[in-house]
Amino acid sequence: APTYPSNCLEFLNDPLAVEKAIPAKVPLNIIVVGAGLGGLATAIALASSGHTVTVYEQAQKLGEVGAGIQIPSNSTRLLSRLGLDPYLKEYVTEPESISFRRWQSGDVIGLTRLIPNFREKFGAPYYVIHRANFHSALHKRALDLGVTVKVASRVVGYDIEGPSIVLANGETASADLIVAADGVKSVARGTVDGGGKPSFDKTGFAAYRATVNVERIKEDPELSWLLEKPALNIWIGDQRHVMTYTIGAGKSFNMVLSHPDDSDPSTWDQKNTLSDMRREFQGWDSRLEKIIVLIEKTIKWPLISGVPLPRWVNGKVLILGDAAHAMLPYMSQGAAMAVEDGAALARSLSKITNAADIPRALRIFEQVRIERAGMMQEASLLNGKLWHFADGPLQEARDAAMKPETMGLPFSH
Ligand code: FAD
Repeated sequence: APTYPSNCLEFLNDPLAVEKAIPAKVPLNIIVVGAGLGGLATAIALASSGHTVTVYEQAQKLGEVGAGIQIPSNSTRLLSRLGLDPYLKEYVTEPESISFRRWQSGDVIGLTRLIPNFREKFGAPYYVIHRANFHSALHKRALDLGVTVKVASRVVGYDIEGPSIVLANGETASADLIVAADGVKSVARGTVDGGGKPSFDKTGFAAYRATVNVERIKEDPELSWLLEKPALNIWIGDQRHVMTYTIGAGKSFNMVLSHPDDSDPSTWDQKNTLSDMRREFQGWDSRLEKIIVLIEKTIKWPLISGVPLPRWVNGKVLILGDAAHAMLPYMSQGAAMAVEDGAALARSLSKITNAADIPRALRIFEQVRIERAGMMQEASLLNGKLWHFADGPLQEARDAAMKPETMGLPFSH
């Protein structure tokens, strides 16, 4: 059995995407579909190598749903090499550690020290940030690199040979290559998969996502320790966990509350989410219950996962990001994998010396990325299993294996 959590941390060393952007010998005209975190990061990686990139986004206005997101070191390393540091600097927080806490008491059962270990081991910091700030930093960087972003442009069809796209308004556009980063409900996935039905299913888990006003937390002496220094705290228990950290320069407290729910998301009524959420975590650490009471609004979000697909490429159309490898957020790696996808694609394409070699570059990209993203999908499922043991022999064995690395932090909270 893999040891926890270092088995997962090894994934932060990505063998393919370690180099600076390499100028392409054959600059291409590339269409990216979707201006989410994955599409924009990919557009940046491709434009940094000298390709001409146009992004088509269905939304009328660019943006991101949800509050906080973690940017693990494998992602920050690439983003830094793609010139994102000045765009992100103002908005990122570098947490000191991740404390794993027992659900009922909040006692620390495991500690992952991020500072200085992650910079030392993986060559880059581990950040948390507000999603909106991450997205707008990527957008600005893309524009500064000359990427064209077209909103209100829903893609309804693909021609893999052209290759070209058809927009909802009937217009068409063609390019040398089409990269679809169109998310979990991807239209392009059916195209590359030959119309097959890939399994992108709900996982039996859902998450409440919320933020809490830090002023309310500061007022309570039993809770104010949570704000003393930037850190991630995660309470783990039977089938559930709660991840917390501050974002927005300490102004906002971000929470993700994962719990079992295998009902059909289309039947969900968000009306009772606050009371449902409180009920799900009744009897947990009383301090956690107090923070949950401070949540004024929340959204329940289905957690989706896929299995590794056999193909991401068909002709000159390919998929990446959540379209190709949606995963449980339990490794905080969904967007990070999309950032790696983009960097890896740019690197594969930079090796070709004439356009006839595009298919070969895409085959190499596909092979490497299916394997790595598949490992991360599996690691995310595994983390869920490890975190969600009910009290008993397995939980005791896990807790014994997770012994805090150091007791130098204020664990008495
Ligand atoms: P999306 O964000 O879904 O973007 C797809 C874009 O394509 C959208 O803008 C959409 O409007 C557009 N689009 C779709 N169809 C079309 C069309 N036909 N034509 C034109 N445009 C189209 N990841 C991390 O790395 N770290 C974390 O800490 C983390 N935490 C998470 C917590 C939760 C609760 C969840 C649910 C996920 C988390 N993730 C995390 C995962 C991360 O949010 C996703 O992996 C990432 O946002 C996927 O980006 P994407 O660009 O591939 O897809």
